[in-house]
Parts: sequence; structure tokens; C-alpha cells
Amino acid sequence: MKVGFIGLGQMGSAMAANLLRAGHDLTVWNRSPAKADMLVAAGAKLARVPAEAAQGDVVMSMLADDGALEAVVFGNDGIVKAPAVHIGHSTISVALADRLSEAHVGGYVSAPVFGRPPAAEAAKLFVVAAGDASHLAAFDPLFSAIGQRTFVLGTTPSVANLMKLCGNFMIMSAVEGMAEAMTLAEKGGIARSTLLAVLTETLFDSPIYKVYGDMLVNDRFRPAGFAAPLGLKDMNLVSAAAHDLATPMPVLSLVRDHLLSLIARHGDDIDWSAVALVARENAGLP
Ligand code: NAP
Repeated sequence: MKVGFIGLGQMGSAMAANLLRAGHDLTVWNRSPAKADMLVAAGAKLARVPAEAAQGDVVMSMLADDGALEAVVFGNDGIVKAPAVHIGHSTISVALADRLSEAHVGGYVSAPVFGRPPAAEAAKLFVVAAGDASHLAAFDPLFSAIGQRTFVLGTTPSVANLMKLCGNFMIMSAVEGMAEAMTLAEKGGIARSTLLAVLTETLFDSPIYKVYGDMLVNDRFRPAGFAAPLGLKDMNLVSAAAHDLATPMPVLSLVRDHLLSLIARHGDDIDWSAVALVARENAGLP
């Protein structure tokens, strides 16, 4: 397939490399062009402007936030009027996904993903997709090239974005709960690693507790696989959706504030799971 890919950050560069490996005819664009070097060396073409990457069958995007995606879609040489169907993988607001569905000449599909950069590299992402059924069927080989499983949620693209936001809220809440429990356990004389081993081998046998638990036990928060400002961005997007749907979420307010504390104390270049440091510091641990 003739595929464009826009946004070669931690996630996008790995996803684009897997599309190339699967044999697709790939054209890439990134704001900082140097990030395309390895893909170009491996056979991708480099677009000079975003619209140039959207002249084929489909253009996939993986950008930081709403502002970045708006710049690439509606800005100078943007992709809004291009013929390619746009598949949006970024974690963005429900409102922007609705706007893209209305605006795109070639059509728009939302397909946010679950999984961190190592999962992206291994083509093990979970894809949550919604949009026109014929588009979803046609682009299934692309989803297979980047992920291990695709969940189709219907024909309204923004539903997939709401699902992604719900998932990220549940991850952050799980990390917060685990961090508080580890802090309590440690102050009472139980090693964090012991707590994690017992609970993940019994009641909490799930990838989230295992992957993030390992990071919490080893204080492995840099380099950031998912940076705290992006996590904060997501909690703010959950908050906007909760406001629009009149849904009180008291736990959301707490984890959002802890992410703000984390960034204020430790900076932008730290993983969002380092909210565990806030729990520890609030309890007087070093
Ligand atoms: P990242 O490494 O920070 O990459 C961000 C990308 O957005 C870069 O290509 C960057 O371009 C581009 N960008 C930022 N602002 C821009 C602007 N104003 N105009 C044009 N391009 C702009 O982020 P990431 O971790 O790959 O995350 C990308 C998306 O995936 C986010 O929506 C994130 O929430 C979501 N996500 C991340 C993970 C994860 O674990 N990391 C997992 C699932 C979903 P430059 O290279 O020029 O800076």
C-alpha cells in the first residue's frame, strides 16, 4: 500500500519502521527532519511538507497532542484536503477527533494504541480503531503490521479516542494505587520487590502491574518511555471528556495533581509512572 507516516517520535518511528518492514511503500514527514534519517536509509521517502505524505492511499499520524495534530492537518501544507484517508494514532481529545471526521476530504479513522515504545518496536501494540467499516477492513494489514490485535469499536471515530483515554486513566490510577501500597509496605518493613512479587503472582497478575511495578521497584523513570507532560496531557483530555459527559471522577483529580507535583519537582524528562516518587516523598521517604 502507498502509505504516508507523520510524526517520528518514540512511538511513530518504531511504527513506521514496522510498516516499511511489512513491505509498504512509505513516505514520512517529521517536524525535525533528522529523525527520518534511519527510515530513509532503510528505503522510505522523505516528504518536504505534511501534504506530500498524504498523496497515496492512506496517511497515518502519531503526534504529541491536539496542537501538533492541528498544525499538521489544518496548518500550511496540511493534510486536510489531501486525497489519502487519515488514520490518527495519537492520543487526542474526543472533540478534535469529531472535528477531523467532519473536515477530512479523504476520510478519517481514529486508531489510538496501547503499548509503550518497546511494544511499538516489537509490533505488539493493541490498536483500538473506529471509523468507516470499509476503511477499517482495507487498512487491517497496516494495523497488523504495527500491532498484535485490533479492536474495532464502530463507525464513529472519536469513540476509539474515548476508549484510549479511559484506558490511560485506569493505568494512571493503577500506578498511583500501587505506589501508595509500596510506600506503606516499605515503611512497615516489606520490600517493594516482595510486595510486587506476591501480588502479581496472585491477585494482580496483569501486564500493567508487572510492567509498571518493575519500574517502581527499580526507580527506573529515565529515560522516559512515556513522558510525564504527555501523561498530564492525557489526564486533562480525560477531564475534558468527563466534563462534557457530566461524569465526576474524583480519582482523576488526584492523579492529575500528582502528575503536576511530579513535573514541578522533577522536571519534564521523567516517565509518568514516577508519580510513585510523589507518594514516597509525601510519606517522608528519600
Ligand atoms: P514523542 O516521542 O514526544 O514524539 C512526539 C512527536 O510529535 C514528534 O514527532 C514531534 O516532532 C511531534 N510534534 C510535537 N509537537 C509538534 C508540532 N507542534 N508540530 C508538528 N509535530 C510536532 O511522543 P511519543 O511518546 O511518540 O507519543 C506520541 C503520541 O502517542 C502521543 O499522543 C502519546 O500520548 C501517544 N502514546 C504514547 C505512548 C508511549 O508510551 N510513549 C503509548 C501510547 C500512545 P519533533 O520530533 O519535531 O519534536
